[in-house]
Amino acid sequence: MHSAVYPGSFDPFTNGHLDIVQRALRIADSLTIAVLKNTSKKSLFSPDERVEIIREVMKPYPQVKVETFEGLMVDFCRDRGIHLVIRGLRAVSDFDYEHAIFLMNRKLLPSLETVFLMASSENSFISSTIVKEVAHFGGNIVDQVPAIVFQRMAERNKEPKA
Ligand code: ADP
Repeated sequence: MHSAVYPGSFDPFTNGHLDIVQRALRIADSLTIAVLKNTSKKSLFSPDERVEIIREVMKPYPQVKVETFEGLMVDFCRDRGIHLVIRGLRAVSDFDYEHAIFLMNRKLLPSLETVFLMASSENSFISSTIVKEVAHFGGNIVDQVPAIVFQRMAERNKEPKA
């Protein structure tokens, strides 16, 4: 029985993330999507909203759990007895950051293994940041995010700005 965790900000959850989840399920029997709470990035959805949205998207996948997490990912994994982390790699630009996190996690918890899945070509240009930016200015992002995310983003962008 292999359980894995897929950590990230997921603000918002994109088709790139969905692709990684679907492919991770070929490696792991169960997967926990861990939504990072202590991120410095300015967010569109709160961590709890992200969890609620991703749970909707994950309805067809009963082997996927969605939770928030705060603090160190190694603690999250240790608490749950998870030894496998899934991360996605889009381009060389992702590599340095992912490599640094990998090395740090390895130092903190040597038994934790990280598997990197390369983005599919059709998703390799999709990033949460760009999707947010384009949607904010009224651009069409229907092909880049799951339908539920598209709907929630349209609602959010219609709300008066604080
Ligand atoms: P973080 O803020 O931790 O980078 P993200 O939500 O941006 O979180 O991404 C979570 C993980 O998914 C990261 O490993 C990231 O590289 C990967 N990822 C993001 N977008 C894509 C994509 N389009 N294709 C494949 N992997 C992706």
